[in-house]
Amino acid sequence: MSKVIIIGAGGVGTVVAYKCASNSNVFTEIVLASRTKSKCDDIVKKIGAKNMKTARVDADNVKELVELFRREKPDLVINVALPYQDLTIMDACLECGVNYLDTANYEPKDVAHFEYSWQWAYREKFEKAGLTAILGCGFDPGVSGVFTAYAAKHYFSKMETLDIVDCNAGDHGKAFATNFNPEINIREITQNGRYYQDGKWITTKPLEIHASLNYPNIGPRDSYLLYHEELESLVKNFPSIKRARFWMTFGQEYLTHLRVIQNIGMARIDEVDYNGTKIIPLQFLKAVLPNPQDLGENYKGETSIGCRIAGKDKNGNEMTYYIYNNCSHEEAYKETGMQAVSYTTGVPAMIGAMMFLTGKWKKPGVFNVEEFDPDPFMEQLPLQGLPWVEVINEPLEVDKIG
Ligand code: NDP
Repeated sequence: MSKVIIIGAGGVGTVVAYKCASNSNVFTEIVLASRTKSKCDDIVKKIGAKNMKTARVDADNVKELVELFRREKPDLVINVALPYQDLTIMDACLECGVNYLDTANYEPKDVAHFEYSWQWAYREKFEKAGLTAILGCGFDPGVSGVFTAYAAKHYFSKMETLDIVDCNAGDHGKAFATNFNPEINIREITQNGRYYQDGKWITTKPLEIHASLNYPNIGPRDSYLLYHEELESLVKNFPSIKRARFWMTFGQEYLTHLRVIQNIGMARIDEVDYNGTKIIPLQFLKAVLPNPQDLGENYKGETSIGCRIAGKDKNGNEMTYYIYNNCSHEEAYKETGMQAVSYTTGVPAMIGAMMFLTGKWKKPGVFNVEEFDPDPFMEQLPLQGLPWVEVINEPLEVDKIG
C-alpha cells in the first residue's frame, strides 16, 4: 500500500497522474493537488481511476502544505509545481515525515539562478529524519543523470567528456510557444551559457556557442550551449569528467521571437508599475502565450534527448558512447493528452517515485538521481513508454566543437 500526493496540475502533473494511475499495483492511492482545484478535478475525471482524489493547496504556504500532508498522510510527495515551491514543500515534508521527489532545482522568484546549494543544504535534515529526497527526476535533469550513471556502471572506467544533447524537432504550428511553463523556460534560455572544463566553469553570452548536430531519425539541427542544472551534480558525482556541456536545439523563428521579447522588456522579472498595479512582465507574457498543455493536439514530430560520452572503457581503451530516447509528440498525446516534453518529464518522475516506493531508491538524505542504482530505473523506461538506444564507438560529433 503506498500513497502519493502529486503537487502541480500542469502539463507534467497531468502525465504523472496518468502514469501513476496506470501503475496502480505500486500507486494504490493518489492525490492530485494544485493551486486551482478545478484543474485537478478535470484531469482526474479524464483519467477515471477510482483510487484518485484531488485537493487545493498553495504550495508557497508551508502551513497549508502541512495541513494537507497531515490529513492525507502520503508516503511520498511528487513535486511538479514550479521550482519556486521546492523549499516550502521540502520544509513541509520534514515537518510531517514525508519523502520528496522533484524535477527541477529550486529557483528564487526574483533572480533566475540555477544551483543545487539550497536543496543540498537540506541533506542533514533529511538524513536525521530518515527521509529520502530525490532531486531532478524528469528527463533532463533526470534520465540524463541515470543514463550517465548507467554508462559509468556498465561501460567506462573513466568518463572524460559528457555532452547532453536535447532536440525538440516537433512542430506545433504556432508562431511562438514554449513547451513547458513559459516563465521558467524563458528564464532558463535567456541566461548566460556555462559549461565545465578542467575543474572550472566557463561562462558564455546567452546562446553564444552553437553547432549543427545530427539527431537520430531527425537529422541536423542547430544546437545551442546552455547552462543546465544537472551539469553541477554530474561533475561532482563523476569527478573524472573533464568537460561537461549541455546543448538544446532552437529554430530561427523561435530565436527571433525570443530576441524581440527580450529587446522590448517582456522577459523582465522585476516588478513594473502598470496603472497603479505591480506586474512582472514575464508573468504577464505567460498569461498571453499559448498554454503548453494545449499544444499537444496538433503537435507533429519527435524529441530526441541523450548523452554523448567519451573516455576509457573497463579495459582502459578509448571508447565513445551515445544513449538516447526519441519520443513522438503524437504518441504522447494519444496516451495522455499532453505533448512529448511534458511526457518525457512526467514518465521519469513517476518511475523515480516507483523506485522509492518499491524500496530500490530509498536512503535517508537528499540525492540527485545519479547517486542511485540506474539499472531498475533503466528497466522501467521502455516499459513505461520511453525506450532507449545505445550507439557504441561511433563518432560523437561533439568532440570537434570547442
Ligand atoms: P505548468 O505551468 O504547466 O504547471 C505548473 C503547475 O503548478 C500548475 O498547475 C500550477 O497551478 C501549479 N502551481 C504553481 N504554483 C503553485 C503553488 N504556489 N501552489 C500549488 N500549485 C502551484 O508547468 P509544467 O507542468 O510544464 O512544469 C512543471 C515542472 O516541471 C516545472 O518545475 C518545470 O521546471 C519542470 N520541468 C522539468 C523538466 C525536466 O526534464 N526535468 C522538463 C520540463 C519541465 P495553477 O495551474 O493552479 O496555477
